[in-house]
Amino acid sequence: MWDAIVIGSGIGGLSAAAALARRGRRVLVLEQHAVAGGLTQTFRRQQWSFATGVHYIGGVAPQPGPKAQFGRLLAWLTGGALQFAPCANPYDIVQWPGFSFGIEHPESAYRLALLARFARQHAAIARWFEACEAARRNAFTLFALHGAPALLAWGLRQWRGAEAAEWAGRTLAGELARIDDPALRAVLGARWANHGAPPPQAPFVEHALVTGSYNAGAYYPVGGPARFAQTLAPAIAAGGGELRVGCDAKRILTTEGHVCGVEFEQRGKRWREASRLVISAMGVANTVACLDDEDAAGWQQTVRGLAPGLSYVSLYVGLEGDIAAAGASSANHWIYASQDIGAVWRDPAQTEAPALFVSFPSLKDPASHGAPTAEVVSVVDAAAFAPWLAMPAARRPPEYQALKEQVQQRLLAQFLRHFPALRPMLRFHELSTPVTQQRYVRSPQGAMYGIEMSAERLTSPALHVRTPLPGLLLAGQDVTSPGVEGACMGGMLAAASVEPALWPMLR
Ligand SMILES: Cc1cc2nc3c(=O)[nH]c(=O)nc-3n(C[C@H](O)[C@H](O)[C@H](O)COP(=O)(O)OP(=O)(O)OC[C@H]3O[C@@H](n4cnc5c(N)ncnc54)[C@H](O)[C@@H]3O)c2cc1C
Repeated sequence: MWDAIVIGSGIGGLSAAAALARRGRRVLVLEQHAVAGGLTQTFRRQQWSFATGVHYIGGVAPQPGPKAQFGRLLAWLTGGALQFAPCANPYDIVQWPGFSFGIEHPESAYRLALLARFARQHAAIARWFEACEAARRNAFTLFALHGAPALLAWGLRQWRGAEAAEWAGRTLAGELARIDDPALRAVLGARWANHGAPPPQAPFVEHALVTGSYNAGAYYPVGGPARFAQTLAPAIAAGGGELRVGCDAKRILTTEGHVCGVEFEQRGKRWREASRLVISAMGVANTVACLDDEDAAGWQQTVRGLAPGLSYVSLYVGLEGDIAAAGASSANHWIYASQDIGAVWRDPAQTEAPALFVSFPSLKDPASHGAPTAEVVSVVDAAAFAPWLAMPAARRPPEYQALKEQVQQRLLAQFLRHFPALRPMLRFHELSTPVTQQRYVRSPQGAMYGIEMSAERLTSPALHVRTPLPGLLLAGQDVTSPGVEGACMGGMLAAASVEPALWPMLR
């Protein structure tokens, strides 16, 4: 009998398990994939190492203080084993033909650069930053409502709930519409792929929260994102727990209306492990798929009504030579075809990507010893890949490979058009699609960040840490926010719901 079983070894599951382990609980973590870490996992091809879902992290500045709260939490969870290196500053560069703007930290420097570039927009810029501040305060209320104990949540809802719900309903497009300079609008809205909802759907609170998380600096894990799992697993083991990969959860078991364990498949055989507490960090849609129909039936029905978000394709590029001398840096590039920053790639078979996110991870990681890499990401509508989403890898027809090859060549050409000096250094490239994302992290329809980001996601009672099924808790990005920090907070909220002594860690 385990004190808790956590399903899913992404940052959401691992942080919940490590936090409980630090409080002396024996926790079993089950991961379906052969590699732990979820979207923090990395993979190698020849000499190149690629990251799947981490390009930069905020809140981990080396100086102690309010700007480094996430770093403080990670240091506690990992015993200080996780280190971060700063990215370039400006850390995000927004560009379209004939235009480029570097986003700097701290926030005051970003603001001054905007004022210098858009001299006639002083009032609009001041209004934007004030709105971001208010939005972030309300985002914290919304997430606290997802995780706080019932009585506290009730009090918070009376005190600040109406204001937070009103903010959740404001969209990024609505806030941008108050700005009359189209270039300024495009710069401020450009980084929406960080939460995955284009401006007309994106809650402004989420945009303010995610972009604001880099206001005190952008960092990269030394040794690559795989270090998250490598440094959290020992904490779980030290508490008497275990992290098992290759264990595909099939059923969350119940007896007399209470969770009692998990049935999973490992090497073709079914196994059971027992616990009165299951924390599911595999995404809420996957969670309900593991429940018997009669368990919390109403809640299951509500969850089934929540759509997955947009997906993405990612081109992993291996290079040879001095890429920094050829124009690469540790800043991220947000490259748009025009000032229309809201377009989604709906027809990758026929058209070019309207937007590229380009990152050079090897330049961010001081421990990556001379195997230069680039990663090129573009948000896509998974509909173009729909015929193959549910198909096992071995049965995928040549049409899938043909589409993949087409998209790969198109993305590569677009990337090299922006970085022509890298062309002679190109040695390797490989594409991931929504089908890849669905396969490796089981994200329904290859969604980039789980449930679609919307006001409904932020306010839905179905996405609370505590589910209506006694003994079943949720963790990870679906209960809080996309992003490593958001998913980790989702894990910490679940752990604190079990171990109230952990609440002060979330102050
Ligand atoms: C392309 C991309 C780039 C990103 N860049 C950044 C960035 O720069 N900075 C940032 O902060 N965030 C970034 N993110 C977001 C961030 O990676 C995620 O929000 C976060 O890692 C999600 O963590 P999670 O634990 O909630 O989910 P996941 O990491 O998806 O973990 C879920 C785990 O559950 C497992 N699982 C599913 N079903 C089962 C089952 N039946 N049995 C057992 N295990 C199961 C999966 O295999 C997976 O390991 C990015 C995401 C993407 C896709």
